[in-house]
Amino acid sequence: MFINISGPLGAVQPMLAMPDEHHFTEAPERDRARVLAAIAAGARSRPEIGERLGMRSTTTSRAVAELLSRRLLLEASGEPRGRGRPAATLLVNARRAGVSVIHVASRSFVGVLLDLGGQVLERRVVTVEPEAGNAALGAVLAGLAVGLAAAAPRGMSHAGTVVSVSGLVDVRRRQWLVSSRWPRMRHFDIEAAIAPAAGPVDVVRHLDADLRTRALADPVTYSEDVVLLHWGWGIGMSYAVGGQPFGVAGGPFGEIGHWRINGLEARSCGCGRQGCLETVAGLWSLLPVLRSRWPDLAEDEDTLLGQLRGLDLLAVPEIHEAARHMARVLGNVCRILFPAHVVVSSPLMGNARLWAHFDALFRAEGLMDGMAPPRLHNDPLAIGHGITGAAAPLLGRGVEALLREPG
Ligand SMILES: [Zn+2]
Repeated sequence: MFINISGPLGAVQPMLAMPDEHHFTEAPERDRARVLAAIAAGARSRPEIGERLGMRSTTTSRAVAELLSRRLLLEASGEPRGRGRPAATLLVNARRAGVSVIHVASRSFVGVLLDLGGQVLERRVVTVEPEAGNAALGAVLAGLAVGLAAAAPRGMSHAGTVVSVSGLVDVRRRQWLVSSRWPRMRHFDIEAAIAPAAGPVDVVRHLDADLRTRALADPVTYSEDVVLLHWGWGIGMSYAVGGQPFGVAGGPFGEIGHWRINGLEARSCGCGRQGCLETVAGLWSLLPVLRSRWPDLAEDEDTLLGQLRGLDLLAVPEIHEAARHMARVLGNVCRILFPAHVVVSSPLMGNARLWAHFDALFRAEGLMDGMAPPRLHNDPLAIGHGITGAAAPLLGRGVEALLREPG
């Protein structure tokens, strides 16, 4: 297949996911994986690929031919050079594979269809009432997933649907256990709702996807062990070493918002118990107090980030109470994991004075005698709601399946 291209040759083609050559046992499959990755990394011709990979020219040519026949590569005709044949240029066909990602934003589900290059080909939003239970959520998610998969262009292989949710999640069983946005939902089987129409299904914790996305953008900081603390509508954490979230293959993890605090027993939580950290520090509990002073405050965290920036939050006694509990809990988290960095993601922390106050409380809380507490970073917004980090694992498996296909 030939296409005309413009733009600089030899530039890296950023891809959401590339195959891992170690996942292949057969040499021809592994060669195809290596060549595809080399082209995504900027190699444009067969000799260049052979040189980068130390691969024989016959092996390189065969792998390129096999990738072209699988339509994972495109061969573009460049500008003619002098009187000779135009130089052929190899490119990854980003439209060959796609994946749907559905994530929660406030009380809405936002669904996007992405191609291999991360371009959004379709976007749909559905708002769901807080009274919704398992059946209503299942119908919404299935409808969204089917619509996104159907929007895949001709020739695109749809790798499946990733659902990225906040709250308590069992990643292994693909079940959403508890959410503070939809308190009537319990043990909702996401895979059963979606897989028949738009599977396979990956269920990820939103915070893990968020952390993976940040690590893709800043590999140096995230090469160490990092705690990501989300202090928003709910409160939770993720932990990653080398950009790989801990507990990805496991059950629930990091629900520090439901750590129970002495003295708060009279406060009921959306999880069905009493005295959880969220009952004093989650935005769902703070917002009514804040709205008694500033009635226009939104529920949506992105909007709140801008609204809270200029307010005198330190004049609110409940904010002091929340910050005090959060600093203590975060100190305890650090005494379990001893991370090198803590990234705080919170619409409250767009407020510079509150951030300075919280940072000081955390320093005062300390770690252990003679040990400095980890560096605290204020980074309120997830890039694109963590979509790229959510998409990468399932899309990568989809590309690997295409590489294994018999020619
Ligand atoms: Zn709770």
